[in-house]
Amino acid sequence: MKNLAIAIHGGAGTILRTSLTPEKEEAYKAALQLALDQAYQLLENGASALDAVEKAVSVLEDSPLFNAGKGSVFTAEGTHEMDASIMDGSNLQAGAVSTVSGIKNPIQLARNVMDKSDHVFLCGKGAEEFAKAVRSKTETNDYFYDQLRYDQWQELKGTDNFQLDHSTTKEQKFGTVGAVALDENGNIAAATSTGGMTNKKFGRVGDSPMIGSGNYANNETCAVSCTGSGEFFIRAVVAYDVSCLMEFKGLSLQEAIKEVIQNRLLKIGGDGGLIAIDRHGNISLEFNTEGMYRGAKNSKGTNEVAIYE
Ligand code: ASP
Repeated sequence: MKNLAIAIHGGAGTILRTSLTPEKEEAYKAALQLALDQAYQLLENGASALDAVEKAVSVLEDSPLFNAGKGSVFTAEGTHEMDASIMDGSNLQAGAVSTVSGIKNPIQLARNVMDKSDHVFLCGKGAEEFAKAVRSKTETNDYFYDQLRYDQWQELKGTDNFQLDHSTTKEQKFGTVGAVALDENGNIAAATSTGGMTNKKFGRVGDSPMIGSGNYANNETCAVSCTGSGEFFIRAVVAYDVSCLMEFKGLSLQEAIKEVIQNRLLKIGGDGGLIAIDRHGNISLEFNTEGMYRGAKNSKGTNEVAIYE
């Protein structure tokens, strides 16, 4: 039997049972299940882990519920600046973009950087130029407008504060999206995409597009996609640290992510979580917040989505 697996997340944070209506909860679960099903279908048809994670993240980017693609938060200037990255564990190829505007699916642009340029990481105007060259699908500002995101921004507008869109005790919380997968050839991959933090300025970039911080994949160890306060994930080099603990200390996937999320990250005050997979198909979903939108599906019969602890 083929050993196939996919795991996804839609952000971690203060997601309390009392803060989501049953309808909202169902909407999140349905969006997560759709991404899982579409990506898993690809894997069943023989697609690579890379194609599967790109698909899962694209589906989540197209949903207004998550802080990525269509649902991206507002910057201090009232714009949307998106970050994304993708990595192939079979050959350590990677692609990333940051602070891009108007791109419908930043994860697909990151994939194009990997496949069609000699570079790994393109940012801002340059990345948008490149997007034109590879004919990335673009959208106007209206597409990215969301009343809720706008209201979140209004609360912070004009201040020096910026925040995770799901870090307060407010009613609505949404998040960065990511996926990790294992394909029939035993290859693993990771993808992460985000709108970053509400009211961010000065070209702020989080961990999501940074290879080794918010995203990493290596067949020898694991594939990881993170979500949380990016500044901490960058300083703790979270995704690569998980890989290093497996490679150099011989920890299992579960031991490694526990150490990083529940110990090292917490020690420096970092909140968030990650999803990870190894080449045997072991999946781990770990967070040190109240909740994380997440899901996993594999050829051994697992098929679940969850929000709270
Ligand atoms: N990690 C993302 C960032 O800092 C935010 C998130 O996970 O929601 O940009």
